[in-house]
Amino acid sequence: MYTRQLNNQQARKIQASQTGGATVIRFPQPAQTASHPRSLSEQLQRNPGALSQPALCRDWITAELEKALADDRFELYYQPLFDIQSQQTVGAEALVRLRAENGELISPDRFIPLTEELGFIVPLGRWILIEACQQLKLWQQQNGGPLRMAVNVSPVQLCDPEFVSTVRTAVESAGIAYSDLELEITEGHVVRYQQQVEQAFNELSALGVSIAIDDFGTGYSALAYLARMPWSRVKIDRSFLTDVPHQQKSRQVVLSILAMAEQLDLEVTAEGIETEAQYRFLVEAGCKTGQGFGYARPQPAAAFQRLLQANDNAGWSCGVQD
Ligand code: C2E
Ligand code: MG
Ligand code: MG
Repeated sequence: MYTRQLNNQQARKIQASQTGGATVIRFPQPAQTASHPRSLSEQLQRNPGALSQPALCRDWITAELEKALADDRFELYYQPLFDIQSQQTVGAEALVRLRAENGELISPDRFIPLTEELGFIVPLGRWILIEACQQLKLWQQQNGGPLRMAVNVSPVQLCDPEFVSTVRTAVESAGIAYSDLELEITEGHVVRYQQQVEQAFNELSALGVSIAIDDFGTGYSALAYLARMPWSRVKIDRSFLTDVPHQQKSRQVVLSILAMAEQLDLEVTAEGIETEAQYRFLVEAGCKTGQGFGYARPQPAAAFQRLLQANDNAGWSCGVQD
């Protein structure tokens, strides 16, 4: 385990052993005393890339992450998924954050890769699934009407033999329908972990869970996998929306994805809708579902609940902020 006993001499030794490689061990920093290593949150806030994982660090980082989970410092934010034609909120995407000791929120891009590398995404992902399903049940009871929950999953979770049973437990203990849950996996991961992805998703899809390809268009082409896996939805990556509607090529790419999805009987969500012009373009293009800062940012559960209550008055740029 990475311990507080690591002294400066040991730290220098580790640094010296990394000569020539891309890995730079900056942990602990020279100015620190060995007995007071920087907290994990602080490391993540400053430079997560510096957290390479020599064996000495791994256990320490894992213990810090376990402690954060036990201390309820992981939080779920929820970003509305909305019906583009009616502008009503139809669901939420659960997006995890880590609350640092100083109160600041750390974004998932800074710690998810680390949790995947350490295998900690398995217990963290279990917590996320359980929490998100329970939250959905609460909103369904409070507000009525159909509402679904999208949860991101990592391929490391799919390699866990307990994954399907974890999903079953999360859904059944919350008392939601399987069809209310959608699992999202990034396109690049579909290709790299095809076997594990296929097996777990076939089982879950048979239960009624929806499966979505996230960030579509950014990974290696997953076209070959579109036909053979039980996808329900593609999420058009927000990079394609950036130049819409002013750039013709970008418009054509989005229209092509919509046409392809229609042929394959897939639902589509457009991610990253920020401007009214993008929104209008998607209305015209017949895109059904959207998500983006222009409608609402990811926000804590309480703010999301207020959005649902105000939904009758909500519309484009309802402007709910976190
Ligand atoms: P994602 O699943 O593609 O989630 C959408 C990301 O785009 C979110 O960033 C969201 O805040 C951001 N976004 C949404 N609308 C807009 C927009 O209009 N403009 C811009 N510029 N950004 C927008 P976030 O929350 O930082 O999450 C980043 C990524 O981290 C997620 O991308 C997902 O891949 C991963 N992630 C988040 N939560 C989880 C989780 O619970 N489990 C796993 N495995 N990965 C997660
Ligand atoms: Mg996602
Ligand atoms: Mg995405």
